[in-house]
Amino acid sequence: MTLPIAGLCLAGLALGPLAAAQPATTEFPVDHHTITRTISYGEMSRFLATVNERGPLTVTVEGTTVKGRSLYLVHAARGGNPAFRILFYAQQHGDEVSGKDALLYLIRDIAERPERLPADVDLWIMPMMNPDGAEAGTRRNGAGADLNRDHIVQDQPETQALYRVVRRVRPHLAVDCHEFGRDSEERHARGWIAYPDITMDGVNNPLFDPEVIAAAQRWVDESAAVEKAAGHPFMRYTVGGMPPEEEQRHSAPDIDGGLNGVGMYGGLSFIIEAAAMGGPHPPADDLARRVDAYLALFWRFVDGDGHRAEDLAAVERARSRPLPAFIPTNYLWVNPGMTVTRFPVVEAATGRVLEIPTANMMTTMAVKSAMPAPLAYAIAPRAAAAFKPVLKRQAIPYEELAAPRRVTAEACTLLRVEDEWDDVYSRYGGRQIVRRETPTVRELEPGTLWVPLEGEAAVRAALVLEPAAMYGVYQYPLFHALTAPGRSLPVLRVVGPAAR
Ligand SMILES: [Zn+2]
Repeated sequence: MTLPIAGLCLAGLALGPLAAAQPATTEFPVDHHTITRTISYGEMSRFLATVNERGPLTVTVEGTTVKGRSLYLVHAARGGNPAFRILFYAQQHGDEVSGKDALLYLIRDIAERPERLPADVDLWIMPMMNPDGAEAGTRRNGAGADLNRDHIVQDQPETQALYRVVRRVRPHLAVDCHEFGRDSEERHARGWIAYPDITMDGVNNPLFDPEVIAAAQRWVDESAAVEKAAGHPFMRYTVGGMPPEEEQRHSAPDIDGGLNGVGMYGGLSFIIEAAAMGGPHPPADDLARRVDAYLALFWRFVDGDGHRAEDLAAVERARSRPLPAFIPTNYLWVNPGMTVTRFPVVEAATGRVLEIPTANMMTTMAVKSAMPAPLAYAIAPRAAAAFKPVLKRQAIPYEELAAPRRVTAEACTLLRVEDEWDDVYSRYGGRQIVRRETPTVRELEPGTLWVPLEGEAAVRAALVLEPAAMYGVYQYPLFHALTAPGRSLPVLRVVGPAAR
């Protein structure tokens, strides 16, 4: 399970000016600029044992993977009552490594110079979310699941561990760390590599508080200057085909990934994607470049951007905001007004930056349909066993009815789940096509789970349970099995009392 640490002793490495004051770590190079291979699970475990209870650091195990590896949680706070809570988590995809490596350098730096951690920051770090995938070099975890599609039902021990931390800590700011291929086949075919060393996007689900979305976007926009100062090309995260013919868009607004899944808890939430060179022989400095680019952003989040009080206030307001009158059920990236964007790519042969004019860079999140928010959701007794763990994992309060209750409610019928790539909506499979029925008076049976749409959990309840949403629980096998052709979904939209 653990790897030998051959070749990683400190001898012969160029030590930085602080090296003399630093205790030796035999697990990875002292200077992150010289790192040429990722830090393994075994090396990380040994390193974390050396920093536990050093200075402001505490290391605990938050969970265990299906293959028995530990999910580590590192806490750093300088005492008192730090007001601003930050959560960094990395390597949900086991083959996307540099966020983890950078977080271990961040932890190392805090162990050695605790004064670098601002006194008002309560910092929580899960450096390796998917140790089984990391050791196997795979995107998926040891059970074959894509953890970054598991944020609604949290079926896997890794996502369950993450959300235990989220429920306890309630971070004001959270960052999910990934990588993408800088020299993908598509780019290679055109003689290009991706322009940025690192990219980033913020919360964008349209049910989230607009102030929080705007505050997150300010962090994204201002990161360009931070990375420029560190010597790294930066652009806002985009995904999609090649310009100018094919569409590019920003990160997915759906809640089955970490960005908006953790974002359901009301804080600022980000995804970072570093650009990794593929191929058999990536340049020696490729990993070091990503780690350096990551560290610039991590320290920026920790040190603050001068808007901390504003961000705190926005998050607190968002968490006490009543649920909006409408719940978006279909939303997608569009380019209103057909704005032409100059999309940068690097010409592989020359290293020159080319700016490709394109009208297919989607600029804006648009809502295409929205339903009036119901008063509550009612989950049928036949589905209670499947939904209860999800409600608990998402910290959504509910009442199990002991006696019948008469209400006016709307049923929804699942027509189909589309498993293919969806070109129109630019998303992978799992889109659920649902018909909303006319409201009728019904008697809810005892054993029904009653979920009121009130309080801090209302946004999560609406996003997780709304049966008319295009992406929700019915894309998952356990929940899909609760549906039958022509039969109502097991969640009713309660729109009024029995007498109307
Ligand atoms: Zn990823």
